[in-house]
Order: sequence, then C-alpha cells, then structure tokens
Amino acid sequence: MARAADSVRSHFRGMCEALASLALPAPCRICTQILDTGSLIPFCHACMEGLTQTLPEPLCAQCGRPIVSAAAAEAVSQPQCRLCRSQVYAFDFARSFGAYTPRMSRAILLLKYGRAAPLGAWFARRLAGLIERQPQGFAADAVVPVHLDRGRLRERGYNQAELIAKPLARMLGIPFRSYLLVRLRPRPSQLRLTRRERWETVRGAYATHKTARVDKLRVLLVDDVFTTGATLDACSRALKGAGAARVVGLTVARALPLSPALEAGLQDQDLEE
Ligand SMILES: [Zn+2]
Ligand SMILES: [Zn+2]
Repeated sequence: MARAADSVRSHFRGMCEALASLALPAPCRICTQILDTGSLIPFCHACMEGLTQTLPEPLCAQCGRPIVSAAAAEAVSQPQCRLCRSQVYAFDFARSFGAYTPRMSRAILLLKYGRAAPLGAWFARRLAGLIERQPQGFAADAVVPVHLDRGRLRERGYNQAELIAKPLARMLGIPFRSYLLVRLRPRPSQLRLTRRERWETVRGAYATHKTARVDKLRVLLVDDVFTTGATLDACSRALKGAGAARVVGLTVARALPLSPALEAGLQDQDLEE
C-alpha cells in the first residue's frame, strides 16, 4: 500500500516537474543558458549536440576503447588495446555511446541525483541506436543493470543504471532482469579512487542472486560510465562463474585520457565505480 502511494506520489511529482518545465523558462542543466522551449530533457541545443558525439573510431575490437595510434589500428583488421591483448577483461565485448566529457559528467550527475527518468530513456535511445548500427555482437537474452550496494540504493532510492537499462530492454524487446546480480560489498566512501583501488574495491564484490538462472544466458550488462572497466569485469566474472554464455557491457559514457583542462572540469562525485 505504501509502495503504491509512493509510486503515485513520484508519478505526480514527475508530472508537476514536466508541467513546470513547459511553463517556466528554465536554465539548461549543463551550461545554465536559459532554454527557449520546454522539454523533458533540460539541455540546450549546443549541449545536446555535444552529448551526441560518438567515440572516435577505430575502437578496440573487444572493449571499445578508441585506439589512438593510427599505425596500430591499421596493422590489423580487428585492433585490440593493450589491456585486451593481455586478456584483462572477463566480458566478451563492450561498447560505450560517447566520451566522458565535463558535459557528459553533468548529464550523468543529473541522472544519478535527480531521478531524471526521461533522461534515462533518452540515453537508452542513444544506446539502442548504437546497437542498431552494429547489431553483431549485441545478441542477448537478458538486459541487466549494474547494481548499487544496498546502502547507496537506500540513500538514493533508485539505481541510475536501471533508469537506462529498463527503457533500453523495452526498446530492444529483451527481458529486463534487474535482480540477476547483487553487490555484496559496498564501495568505500571516498570519492576519488586510483585505478588500482578501483580494481581492488570491486574484485569479488558482485555475485549472481541465489534464485537467478544464469546458465547459458547471454547478458547485456548496462551501466552509466566505463571508467577502468573494473566494475563490468567484476560483474562479468560473477555471471560467467554462474554459467553465463556471453556477457556484453554497454555504457553511456567512456572515460578516456583527457586534456588537463577537461579533467579539471569533471565532477569528482561522478567518478564512482
Ligand atoms: Zn547548455
Ligand atoms: Zn580493449
């Protein structure tokens, strides 16, 4: 009963927000420029354009990292990055929609702390478009969001990966299986983690739910940001350990080595993995 009331309340709040954004001149939630038209996605035209820039090709055939050295990319038809050549990742294939720029970081923060469901669906459409352009590699039996630990879920009330994964599953016509994975250990509370700490904190932190049937399943694993790939790797190990046939990672954004100016513009609290 309380859940139903909560859901009505949140639906009502969503409607009010939508109406308010139609009626009042609102600032772009990325660059603060006043928006001239009301929209459920509170970004100006320039910011929207910036967010829809896809990653520069060629990409690593396995993890999707842009390959910077043209010579390395030309040398083979299926180029692989250094990490994939040393078989670091347990997932079979991963792709991201765009680069994790300061603009993207602000958009993801809004999704993370603003319960911005329309934005989740907007990102889902971008990911569905990416799959449509290259369907090979993405075949899956279930769409699974990367989970937050319980404390974080309680604190935030929702999981931002789920806000993207759920509409994506609907668009693809693939079952959404939110509770296939569980996070066993919470993430440490400090915001900035080194690359090594990121790997260490997620190692063994995920498991499949005891009632989940994973055997021979092909899983499409969805998250907001691919930072080091440690989270997708830990989830993939849990799924493969339980018998999954294939795990494909898909994220909205991909952290790449950026110029110092871009680095400085990124919001610390968003670099969570
Ligand atoms: Zn803007
Ligand atoms: Zn790679």
